[in-house]
Amino acid sequence: MALIIPQSHNFDWLGDGTRLVCPCCGSARPATERFRHHIELKQALRDWWDASITDTSGFRCPAYNRKVGGAPKSQHILRRVPHDQNDDFATDSVVKIDSPRVTRVRGNKAKLYERWFMAHIQVAERAIEIGFTGVGVYKGDYSKEITPSIHLDLRPGELVTWGSKEAEALK
Ligand SMILES: [Zn+2]
Repeated sequence: MALIIPQSHNFDWLGDGTRLVCPCCGSARPATERFRHHIELKQALRDWWDASITDTSGFRCPAYNRKVGGAPKSQHILRRVPHDQNDDFATDSVVKIDSPRVTRVRGNKAKLYERWFMAHIQVAERAIEIGFTGVGVYKGDYSKEITPSIHLDLRPGELVTWGSKEAEALK
């Protein structure tokens, strides 16, 4: 099923929506209110950051979620039973560091990686201010070239943060 992308001008990070469908089977669902709200808030976040925020994961079928080691109740999961009775949606993204909101740093690769991770924490703080309720920020590992990343969702209920002690401290 084709994914309908709401109006959003930063197609450098939204792309044509293909990054938001499940990479293994192309699963998605027609846009729900929560999906639209997510994209709207993400555009606001991107406008504030004034640098690229690149989506690396959106919808996942249950099999793909297991394959990538996602949480069993992950907001990424596109559940089929009962069909489309939930409107869970989440994105994982990598934030570019060339934002005017980042002060320049010098240092070795490890230090720059730490600064890159802290840029994700800055974005997470703003994401919480504008209404995201599920916020995970992962450090990555420069020695393995695993980039820092940020998970965002609009789960009902209270704010939940995870992924690193800096992310947990945002609550
Ligand atoms: Zn799949």
